[in-house]
Amino acid sequence: MNQEKSREAFNRAAKVIPGGVNSPVRAFKSVGINPVVIDYAKGTTITDIDGNQYIDFVSSWGPLILGHANESILEAIRETAVKGTSFGAPTILETEMAELIVQMVPSVDKVRMVNSGTEATMSVLRLARGYTKKDLVIKFTGNYHGHADSFLIKAGSGAITLGLPDSPGVTKATAKDTLLADYNELDSVELLLKKHQGEVAAIIVEPVAGNMGVVPPEKGFLEGLRKLADNYGALLIFDEVITGFRLAKGGAQEYYGVHPDLTTLGKIIGGGLPVGAYGGKAEIMDLLAPDGPVYQAGTLSGNPLAMAAGLAMLKALNETPGFYEALESKAARLENGLRENLEKTATPGVVNRVGSLLTLFFTQKEQVTSYDEAMASDTEKFANYFRHSLENGIYLAPSQFEAMFVSYAHTDEDIDKCIAASLEAMQKI
Ligand SMILES: *Cc1c(COP(=O)(O)O)cnc(C)c1O
Repeated sequence: MNQEKSREAFNRAAKVIPGGVNSPVRAFKSVGINPVVIDYAKGTTITDIDGNQYIDFVSSWGPLILGHANESILEAIRETAVKGTSFGAPTILETEMAELIVQMVPSVDKVRMVNSGTEATMSVLRLARGYTKKDLVIKFTGNYHGHADSFLIKAGSGAITLGLPDSPGVTKATAKDTLLADYNELDSVELLLKKHQGEVAAIIVEPVAGNMGVVPPEKGFLEGLRKLADNYGALLIFDEVITGFRLAKGGAQEYYGVHPDLTTLGKIIGGGLPVGAYGGKAEIMDLLAPDGPVYQAGTLSGNPLAMAAGLAMLKALNETPGFYEALESKAARLENGLRENLEKTATPGVVNRVGSLLTLFFTQKEQVTSYDEAMASDTEKFANYFRHSLENGIYLAPSQFEAMFVSYAHTDEDIDKCIAASLEAMQKI
């Protein structure tokens, strides 16, 4: 595959953009090659600037659940754009969007729009602290909540002690307010709540971990978090930036039947434009300015183009009969195919899937249910697999610790091509 133009374009970018990219993982560093530079995309096919085509399983890291350049979304953007692209004043579109979110997401009575998932989680934490008048937050090692300081904290071995900054630039003062627990380990959460009784504002969790590869919540984990939060007077926050509108109309909280106090949304909600949102119980949301004292604002928040695109997206999900059933069967087909490939080639591995989120871990482990098990994966093998897949026209996220995002636009043929390419790749690695 000739990727000469991509190479040149990336080298040119690297002179003026740090690392050549505006978000780090796009640089393909962990898979040891240069990224391909995209020209255009339609449906499930993306075309790079050398004219190579790939079947896309990244879906812009989640947002494009209807595939690329979906007609109804494009039409909504076109219609809205000619009326002006930003007013910094209320529009009906924002209310329609909020009404639809409140209707779809079970625990959300009121919602505030922002411009990214990062902004949503950063703002929701301030609100949780303002409401509870407590400072500490519990997050899970390996969960990702965007790049705000409070969340850029993972664990070393001391997950139950106070966090250390993971990135230079995060101050010790900030890091000490973030406590780390182990995903799928309720005991680790209770230990922290006991030790810091009366000080924990919130527990924030990805209801399905999607940023250490897909790791589903074990039976009783989310229910247990709900109980612990109630018992210790902390709020429960579901970060549904990935799972929202993906696992069900009402996200993971509908899928698992566990309702958080506050929810963050992003990715799908913008229909491919930059949008995030956070919402929850009216009693808590009413603390936001201008009704309450907790300040949060945004010049371009609720931007009409973004609202039009998001609204078109959510309407399609809401109104297409059998949408989530279809998505489930496409993803199950992929899961089964990948499992069979592992068997056929005697490759050690685990396939984790929840709905249309899926990760193939190259690992000797029997299962991947925790951060440590995820981290035991063979990233070298993944990098090889990734490069062969790309050569075979399959575009995957360039990391072992990300999800494959199946979209409604993926046909059985797309999926079968992916399975065939995967088999070939597995035979070579
Ligand atoms: C992507 C992601 C975020 C951050 O969203 P951005 O729009 O990239 O800022 C937050 N939480 C989760 C669970 C995510 O997957």
